[in-house]
Amino acid sequence: MEKQVQSEGVGPEILAEWLEQLKEKLNVAGEGPKYVYVHCFRHPPDRHPSFVLHKSKFYGFDFHDGRAFSLKELAEMLGVTLQGERKDVIDLGGVQVQPLFNGLNRKIHPAIGTVDGTAYVSVCLPCSNGRGGC
Ligand SMILES: [Zn+2]
Repeated sequence: MEKQVQSEGVGPEILAEWLEQLKEKLNVAGEGPKYVYVHCFRHPPDRHPSFVLHKSKFYGFDFHDGRAFSLKELAEMLGVTLQGERKDVIDLGGVQVQPLFNGLNRKIHPAIGTVDGTAYVSVCLPCSNGRGGC
């Protein structure tokens, strides 16, 4: 039951928002301190709620087959577009980097090289890591 699902690389406040978004799409039967009890959308009809959302660990769990789902997986299955999902963020060795394409580029001498007959030019994009720098 306490299977850990990989966190989504976003903060808990965003995960809490996603949980609310998913609750709107699910047939919620009740709510406890830790779990939201839901009629399973994977195995309808589900008279006694067999699916839960963990309210602080942010995953879904289906008691029918013991499978756990991340909020992103649930959103995909339910056709929900999660608010604030960052499609423009690049993971660079565990650091979330967001390239900025808003014309703040500066002229920096590019590095040019040839590998196996193909020329490569490095492009510098100003980035934000959410903490005011890169
Ligand atoms: Zn189920």
